[in-house]
Amino acid sequence: YDDRDGKIWMDGKLVEWRDAKVHILTHAMHYASSVFEGERAYGGRIFLSRKHSERLHFSASCLDFEIPWTVDQIEAAKEEVLKANGLSDAYVRAIAWRGSGEDMGVAARRNPVRLAIAAWEWGSYYGDAKFKGAKLDIAKWKRPSPETIPVHAKAAGLYMICTISKHQAENKGCSDALFMDYRGYVAEATGANIFFVKDGEVHTPLPDCFLNGLTRQTVIGMLKDMGVTVHERHILPEELEGFEQCWLTGTAAEVTPVGQIGSYNFEVGELTRKVAQEYEKLVRS
Ligand code: PMP
Repeated sequence: YDDRDGKIWMDGKLVEWRDAKVHILTHAMHYASSVFEGERAYGGRIFLSRKHSERLHFSASCLDFEIPWTVDQIEAAKEEVLKANGLSDAYVRAIAWRGSGEDMGVAARRNPVRLAIAAWEWGSYYGDAKFKGAKLDIAKWKRPSPETIPVHAKAAGLYMICTISKHQAENKGCSDALFMDYRGYVAEATGANIFFVKDGEVHTPLPDCFLNGLTRQTVIGMLKDMGVTVHERHILPEELEGFEQCWLTGTAAEVTPVGQIGSYNFEVGELTRKVAQEYEKLVRS
């Protein structure tokens, strides 16, 4: 919905939502030279705000560009956006990209690096799956090797297979797709990390070729504080059958229970509910 009221921060100033446009020859659109963040504000305060801004800078450095705004400036801009739009509980999207300019080819040194921040109300990312448990399809595509692409950047280029896989999953009546990695280990969903429970202990894939989500790190910390053993390790798809519970974590997804992956079923169990509740408490504390 481009033509709506609201303000978006672009390159240092607030512009009307409907006027927040870029040129068709924007380098990022042709060559995926863009990095972004997904953040959530609760009661007007962005959870882990600074960490998101730092990750944006990190992602840009992985793509060999520098954002012409400091972390402090980005922090101030995000607050400005929330205020200008009168938002309290909201999703915040910061995006930095190589713009249009003299360079039309792959190289883009002469084109400006741009930054925009938008925010809007966004409820449960997986709809009512948040309560019932999401159904996941196993993606045909694999998370690539760290030797193929900068896998730890939150970069647009890494989402091409996410969109394809999510569409394929939705076509089959699923909420999302679960990726294996290039070696065949369980990796992550298209915009969230994954956790499993077995015999009271938690198992989660080692983030050695995908985003080590801030929510993932937060939840691991919470589990450790609760005295729950967490195994960060390589997980084979054959192991899915033996897990009792499963959930996804992400800024947008928060903690979403998983009820089914392919032909395997999971219960929305006590630990899953507890982690979801504790996370909800934490983000609002
Ligand atoms: N993996 C991918 C591919 C994602 O897009 C996200 C959402 N940013 C995550 C994991 C979870 O990361 P975070 O908890 O930092 O939102």
